[in-house]
Amino acid sequence: MIENLPHKEEQMNHQLPHSTATTGTLAPLEPGTVTLVGGGPGDPGLLTVAGLRALEQADVVLVDHLAPQDSLASCRPDCEQVWVGKLPRGEFVPQERINELLVEHAQAGRRVVRFKGGDNFVFGRGGEEWQACAEAGIAVRIIPGVTSSVAAPALAGIPVTHRSMVQGFTVVSGHVPPGDPRSQLDWAALASTRTTLVVLMGVKYLPQIVAELQTHGMDPATPVAVVVKAGHPDMRQVRGSLADIAELAQQVTPPAVTVIGEVAGLVWG
Ligand code: SAH
Repeated sequence: MIENLPHKEEQMNHQLPHSTATTGTLAPLEPGTVTLVGGGPGDPGLLTVAGLRALEQADVVLVDHLAPQDSLASCRPDCEQVWVGKLPRGEFVPQERINELLVEHAQAGRRVVRFKGGDNFVFGRGGEEWQACAEAGIAVRIIPGVTSSVAAPALAGIPVTHRSMVQGFTVVSGHVPPGDPRSQLDWAALASTRTTLVVLMGVKYLPQIVAELQTHGMDPATPVAVVVKAGHPDMRQVRGSLADIAELAQQVTPPAVTVIGEVAGLVWG
């Protein structure tokens, strides 16, 4: 994918175009720019200070369905809020149109915020949005968010790493099942990484995923936790093992993060 990114040569020189990604997240938003704001998993307290300041200054916010809605109360009364992405009743605004909207609003001289759940660069299509803006010559600021891949386990009391227990974690998408031609994941390798495995978008295919991991030799007794709606008042979690979690979590609906590994068996207090 790297070869598709704009301004490859500039990147090779470590000069990211149109981006203040590494510094200055608290600087005032400039008219005619786009700011990608990661909203965290849902609890308004988990939006960063820079993210909140950006919302306060925005002329227009393009909101994702998983973004923390309560935080929108911090927008100015005259700020236009546009809901894009998946909408109720199954409609959705295609990504290409979202990219166009970002560019159009910025070209109209507005301070544009793209507000998403978690972090925009973790299964958030932030890379594509950044690329579309860069191609149109629009300056982009990146405000990282608290990703659910770490926050959902944490809020459920699960550390994704733990000294002496596990020395890493691997985050994957389960939006297509193992064996599907669209899947790019090596499930045999994932079964033997000896890292905590964190699966996003994995509710629908949880039975296939746990079966595949066992086929590739993962111990059926490996602890598994499914953390549902982390950071929301109705957050809950289901704990089990690789062998029984699919049955225990049958009633779970998205959004949920699945954590597989010894840490998912930890209980504090
Ligand atoms: N950019 C987001 C992830 C978007 S993909 C991030 O960094 O968190 C959407 C998936 O994220 C959901 O299917 C679910 O697996 C996970 N997710 C997002 N918010 C969540 C939440 N509050 N609780 C549990 N899972 C969540």
